Amino acid sequence: MIDADTKGPKPGTKVIRVGNDGDAWIEGYRCAACGAVMPVATMACRACASRVPPEPYRSAETGTLYTWSVVHRSYPGVEVPFVSAIVDLDGGLSFKGTLKGVEPNRLKSGMPVRLVFDDAGGAVDADGNPYVGFHFVAGDAA
Ligand SMILES: [Zn+2]
Repeated sequence: MIDADTKGPKPGTKVIRVGNDGDAWIEGYRCAACGAVMPVATMACRACASRVPPEPYRSAETGTLYTWSVVHRSYPGVEVPFVSAIVDLDGGLSFKGTLKGVEPNRLKSGMPVRLVFDDAGGAVDADGNPYVGFHFVAGDAA
């Protein structure tokens, strides 16, 4: 896995992991005692208080749209309107991100969506290494 001192693509958020081959994934943590999932490492389960630290797992990249907001005003340079969505990934994690490629009037709660890793808007670190971000698209999109 790529860490902060390694050359190459860097995770754009704490939940993204990037392999040495550039492959990216979302890492969640699952409690062995009760099965609850968390987006970050914890010392104990947030659901059942088990003192056994939840184990990391690779999250599914498919899920369903929970809710959304169409954003019409944003920072300079950010193209609007865009859809800010909350997605429930299969397996239990939920994330907020931009949902691309779907007209707002076609959005439906529960519609299938999937995660797509991207270049985080072209962001790079001080050494020119790119960041990896993500957005969502309709689940049936290629
Ligand atoms: Zn638990």
